[in-house]
Amino acid sequence: TGDFQGKRITVAGLGVSGVPAAKVLHGLGAQVTVVNDGDDDRAREQAAGLEALGVTVRLGDGDSLPEGTELIVTAPGWKPDKPLFAAAGAAGVPVWGDVELAWRLRKPDAAPWLAVTGTNGKTTTVQMLAAILQAAGLRTAAVGNIGVSLLDAVLGEEQYDVLAVELSSYQLHWAPSLRAHSAAVLNLAPDHLDWHGSMEAYAAAKGRIYEGNRVACVYNVADKATEDLVREADVEEGCRAIGFTLGTPGPSQLGVVDDLLVDRAFVENRHKNAQELAQVSDVRPPAPHNIANALAAAALARAFGVPAAAVREGLRSFTPDAHRIAHVADIDGVSYVDDSKATNTHAAEASLAAYEKIVWIAGGLAKGATFDELVAKSAKRLRGAVLIGADRALIREALARHAPEVPVVDLERTDTGAMLQAVQEAKRLARPGDTVLLAPACASMDMFANYNRRGEAFAQAVRELGA
Ligand code: ADP
Repeated sequence: TGDFQGKRITVAGLGVSGVPAAKVLHGLGAQVTVVNDGDDDRAREQAAGLEALGVTVRLGDGDSLPEGTELIVTAPGWKPDKPLFAAAGAAGVPVWGDVELAWRLRKPDAAPWLAVTGTNGKTTTVQMLAAILQAAGLRTAAVGNIGVSLLDAVLGEEQYDVLAVELSSYQLHWAPSLRAHSAAVLNLAPDHLDWHGSMEAYAAAKGRIYEGNRVACVYNVADKATEDLVREADVEEGCRAIGFTLGTPGPSQLGVVDDLLVDRAFVENRHKNAQELAQVSDVRPPAPHNIANALAAAALARAFGVPAAAVREGLRSFTPDAHRIAHVADIDGVSYVDDSKATNTHAAEASLAAYEKIVWIAGGLAKGATFDELVAKSAKRLRGAVLIGADRALIREALARHAPEVPVVDLERTDTGAMLQAVQEAKRLARPGDTVLLAPACASMDMFANYNRRGEAFAQAVRELGA
């Protein structure tokens, strides 16, 4: 870290990663300049705080490279095609993201990283992994987009044995030298393509997570793209490819046999060819995609040497975050489930696959998505659909094409009472034994501040219904 003394570093972007990065680098003796596109009140406030420390801040000027810059540390969300990075490329200036910075600043005896990425399921998997590692008596934390920030985990006082790290495709794009102990790519579906420029570039960024792995590259047997990424990765000698599957596991795989999670990759007893880890019912919620998340978490923990008993104990102690397939209530034999976090079609498809007969509440901001595949795959499970939000016509049209017999209620209103009406309409369509599922397949910002608020509005409406 002495390397930063006197170094001229440009931090690109104020905000959750930029402000702490600027402070840390300034503290290491670097000459820090922060450049930021925006110039609003929030930015001015943050800038004032940094300037008081002696950091230079240029607001409303995120595209010109400050004279003499030797290194750029960028917020992960900044797009690679920004002029700032073209200027950096031309000048031979390296660009690091927040993850790269944390990786470079880690102490010599720092805890190894077990890393997780994927289009969906990252947060859940990292939290399950942390719960399992804790059950094994290890000092750990779930870090990344959740819980403790990476910089704090790496630089703070707290001692860790191992870190469970969630990484987005943006962060991986900007983390060229990261080398995890082991890593998992849960799944790959088109997402954030506007940022990465193409599906290939998105996949390549996710694949970065495997580069230099020492012990295990964990992939999804059902998602061949993840296995391809393992094959393409340059790993340490002896590093193994470990698959997870909802089916019977082959050698070097974890999977499901009857009602058990079973490990055929890291077997403790040399006279056996499989190790039982846990019951399927130990995984909450017991939806198929979530069992896949549990297997991925177990694979990473087992790669780190965690015994089977701790996997079971950790999974049992795990409580899912709110608005992720959260059971809200049973009313008149109908179950009401909040998966407000299903903000894209891939996530919604997973939660729709978890129930037999569904009245589906969907809609919001589509973010350029198309709904044909989702609707075609889920059509036979749908008892009915209630559509809300700005882009509901896209879903209505997909339903008309692939599920013309499914009754659809199209709610035009977007005021605060809209969710209550949606739930009332859903109740009218549902029969005993059905599930009313909020899995919007869309972002929430047209009607709500965020997906949490959307989920809370749903739960509140269900409670009013039951009262
Ligand atoms: P992320 O951190 O990747 O956004 P979360 O764990 O917060 O993922 O889950 C987000 C949503 O994605 C969940 O509400 C659920 O609908 C869906 N989901 C979770 N795990 C998976 C998976 N393995 N495959 C597909 N969808 C999933």
